[in-house]
Amino acid sequence: MYDIIIIGSGPAGLTAAIYTTRANLKTLLIAGTKWGGQLQLTTLVENYPGFPDGIQGPDLMQAMRKQAERFGTEIIDKDFLNADFISKPFKISTVDTTYEGKSVIIATGADTKWLDVPGEKEKIGRGVSSCAPCDAFFFKEKQVIVVGGGDSAMEEALVLTKFATTVTIIHRREDFRASQIMLDRAKKNPKIKFILNSEITEVLGETNVKAIKIKNNKTNEVTEMPIDGIFVAIGHMPNSSIFKGIEVDDKGFIIVKDHYKTNIDGVFVAGDVHDSHYKQAVTAAGFGCAAALEAEHWLAGIE
Ligand code: NAP
Repeated sequence: MYDIIIIGSGPAGLTAAIYTTRANLKTLLIAGTKWGGQLQLTTLVENYPGFPDGIQGPDLMQAMRKQAERFGTEIIDKDFLNADFISKPFKISTVDTTYEGKSVIIATGADTKWLDVPGEKEKIGRGVSSCAPCDAFFFKEKQVIVVGGGDSAMEEALVLTKFATTVTIIHRREDFRASQIMLDRAKKNPKIKFILNSEITEVLGETNVKAIKIKNNKTNEVTEMPIDGIFVAIGHMPNSSIFKGIEVDDKGFIIVKDHYKTNIDGVFVAGDVHDSHYKQAVTAAGFGCAAALEAEHWLAGIE
């Protein structure tokens, strides 16, 4: 029997584990087969405090994991399967084992949002990607596009310029969601071009990406553009649908009640699975800390 079972191993889950184990609470963390969350898919993180020269995303996650383990967190690299929140203690299952916990922190983060246009899904890994640091190497001297107008799109495009000949950012509006510093970096890079007010309507090619159909949102004109690779950077979807009985909003983000509680007594939430607003590694870590302190108080019977 664990005091706390944490589901998820990004900055929120690992920070929560550091706090709960340091409070001497018996903690199990279900990390997933692909542990570490979105930072495992990124390169240099420049805005996480404490690293004046930046730190590689995977190195930051390794350090957090090591710190959680040092205080005694049991970490299981298996995928979460389901949760029974109906009776107490709560029962949390992976593919082969069911664990019992007095309390739970959900910190399952968010996953890539895809364009959902014809020809896209079947070409993931065949020219369609959501991770430039993982796949940019395959596009040496090729022509690629990045879809999106946020920081992720700018970052993906900048990574791709190290390999591709041209990188075209396609964005559906004229105004960007990206921060000024990231937008300026992208604009200054001679390999990056922009196509604005435009959306992809179809990904073309028999098995691999060969071209896209692109629609101008102002004129409704649809044209074809030959291309070797598409990097989709249009945001993320919270990983909440796997939890039955937990209240979510219309976009699937878990609804936070008073201080990181969910609608189920004893079940807490932290990170991108509830946060549709900040979505930063440092805020996720902060939410992990807050959820851990709330769970600790709840276990001690303090309101
Ligand atoms: P985001 O800020 O939500 O931006 C998503 C972009 O994709 C928006 O421009 C949006 O267009 C577009 N989009 C959404 N759905 C679309 C669709 N179906 N078709 C076409 N375009 C679509 O997401 P993000 O860029 O992933 O960033 C998330 C958070 O992480 C932000 O807070 C960001 O600052 C942070 N982040 C920071 C860094 C960094 O500082 N180095 C790097 C990456 C991410 P609209 O603008 O029209 O809605």
